[in-house]
Amino acid sequence: MENCVFCKIAAGEIPSAKVYEDGEMLVFRDIEPKAKIHLLCVPKEHFATLAELTPARTALVGRMLETIASHKDEWGLKDGYRLVVNQGENAGQTVHHLHIHVLGGETLGW
Ligand code: 5GP
Ligand code: ZN
Repeated sequence: MENCVFCKIAAGEIPSAKVYEDGEMLVFRDIEPKAKIHLLCVPKEHFATLAELTPARTALVGRMLETIASHKDEWGLKDGYRLVVNQGENAGQTVHHLHIHVLGGETLGW
């Protein structure tokens, strides 16, 4: 989608520190990390929120979770991590392209 920063990252138009990529998703480091390790897992297809899930997108989100779980050691998250999915204004969602925050690498407070 035009003017979407994560679509531009997925298309390689904006550089990012990628840790994983396949045909349908991308995982890269957050530019303003809120924890020692802060990754963003993003589908390549643009959609903004979980309200827009279809059966295919639901399956993709499941594969995103599976990918995070299977790479946790490689990404320095073997001792645990937190997933955050901000939805809409009250949650402070600033990028309207679905993304899963993956936070860890240290003991996390609230
Ligand atoms: P939200 O608040 O929408 O859940 O989170 C958006 C996240 O995207 C923020 O943590 C922000 O730091 C990150 N972000 C915004 N623009 C960029 C960018 O151009 N590159 C990277 N790597 N992260 C970004
Ligand atoms: Zn997008």
